[in-house]
Amino acid sequence: MAKKCREPVLHGPAYSPILCTNDAKRDGYCGIHHPDALKRRREKAEARYKAKWEASKAKLRREEFNQRAGDRCRELGIQPEEIR
Ligand SMILES: [Zn+2]
Repeated sequence: MAKKCREPVLHGPAYSPILCTNDAKRDGYCGIHHPDALKRRREKAEARYKAKWEASKAKLRREEFNQRAGDRCRELGIQPEEIR
């Protein structure tokens, strides 16, 4: 019988810890629970989060710029819509 992954997962009856039922492929872990795979997935999630954060910051900066440009235009008596 093949060795099983040693990672406990929490979806057994009544949330009791049960062991992952996948066969161990490397270092006693299955492909999903190997520390390298977990690390890779975490890094991927972090990169996604960071990209989202950067995008929202860029959006804020753009809105701020638009706001200031609009204010300046009104100061100068120009309709902001006229300069696109
Ligand atoms: Zn596993």
